[in-house]
Amino acid sequence: MTCGVHQGIPAAGRCFNCGVWLCQECLDTAAEFGLVVCGDCMMRILLQAPE
Ligand SMILES: [Zn+2]
Ligand SMILES: [Zn+2]
Repeated sequence: MTCGVHQGIPAAGRCFNCGVWLCQECLDTAAEFGLVVCGDCMMRILLQAPE
């Protein structure tokens, strides 16, 4: 499996929201927000975050 965002990069996990495969770099970025999600889902979650 390879990252669904970065072509050719081995996947290290999956987005818990949509299930797309993510590489370590994607996971590190999501971890800054306390999430394990892809970029698309992160934006969606952040935009819909409850007040
Ligand atoms: Zn996702
Ligand atoms: Zn990636």
